[in-house]
Parts: sequence; C-alpha cells; structure tokens
Amino acid sequence: MALGELIWTGRAWPAAEIVGRTGDDFTIKTSGKGRPLELVGPAAWWRNFSELNLEDSDAIIGFVRRHGDPFGQLSQTTQGDTAGWAYVVGLLKLAASCWTRIIPPTSLCTVWDNGYVIDALLASPLFVERVAFVPHVGEVGTDVTARRGVTMRIIPENLAAYMITSAILHLEDHVSMAPCEHCGDWFVERRRGTQFCSASCRAASSTSKKEKK
Ligand SMILES: [Zn+2]
Repeated sequence: MALGELIWTGRAWPAAEIVGRTGDDFTIKTSGKGRPLELVGPAAWWRNFSELNLEDSDAIIGFVRRHGDPFGQLSQTTQGDTAGWAYVVGLLKLAASCWTRIIPPTSLCTVWDNGYVIDALLASPLFVERVAFVPHVGEVGTDVTARRGVTMRIIPENLAAYMITSAILHLEDHVSMAPCEHCGDWFVERRRGTQFCSASCRAASSTSKKEKK
C-alpha cells in the first residue's frame, strides 16, 4: 500500500481582526464566511509560521487572513486566540533549522541526516492525535506501472497539523525553498531562480511594477 496525498481542507479568514489581549495571548474574531481552501500536497509556508513573532499583532492577523487559524477555532460565531501557537512555532522552528538561512537566492536543506527532527515532529500530539490516514482507491505507480490501487490519504484535522505534516514531508524530501518576492510566502523551488510562489503572484508583481512606472 502506498502513501497517498496530503489533503488540507480549511478556511482562511480575510476579515479577521485582533479584538483583545489576555496575558500573552491575542484574541481574534472574524466576520464573513471565510475563504475556503483545498490544498493537495504540502505547502512550504509552514516556514512563515515558524518565523511568526507572537508579539506582533499585524503578523499574527496577516497569517490568519491568508492561511487560517492553526487550531480551527474561528467562525462567524466563535472567537479564537493565540494560546498554544508558541508550541507550533517552536516545533516548526526546529524543522526550519535544517535549512540554510542565507538567502537569497535559495534555502537548502543541508541537514541530510534529519531523522531526529522528523522523529520529534512525528511524536508531537499534533501529529499523533490530529492526522488521520484514510484508505482511498486511486491511481498508484507511475507511467507503465500505473494502475488503480489502495493508497493512504493523509488528512490533517487542523491547520497546525497540516503545517507539521508539510514540514515532515519537506524534511523527508530535502526540498529547496525560497520566499516569494511578491507575497513573502515560502514555496518549494523546483527550478533554481524562481521568484514567485504562484502564477498569480508573478502576474500581480508585474502589474504593480507597470503601475509604478
Ligand atoms: Zn507569492
């Protein structure tokens, strides 16, 4: 049986705002229905979360607006807070420590023997308790060997678990990464010198350059 795709179904909250603070934790509320997200495969912006300054309310709300809240607390009727975020940041910082920090142009996963870091992430309750493996019949094998067979889809229950699982898969594959020059999100650099995380960021960047002229 093959390991199948990582699939994340969640919501970003473009209308989220900080509405208060209790001790070290910010309270967040939102209006609107949010922006539905369905992602197949790992996303490298777990590194943006690893770099979050949890004292910086703009950085916190910026992340929630773009990618959602890590523990899936927010809705039109429920508030969330940043309690527990430091734990996720810490785990992802450990993962990020396997990549070089000197950028541009590319951040390389230079810690080849990173199994001890993967072990730490696998042992986290965020992985053990919040990630399901769901059997699914789909295409397995490649090209000549392609056929229908059983794979285990990886389904995280919340955004924190999705980011931890993304980091595990990236550590395992030793991918190279770069930050997008338009939105600042980390992305997997499949070709050296790629500047943008997506076609939409490339287009937005060239439009804003033209406007400046
Ligand atoms: Zn981008």
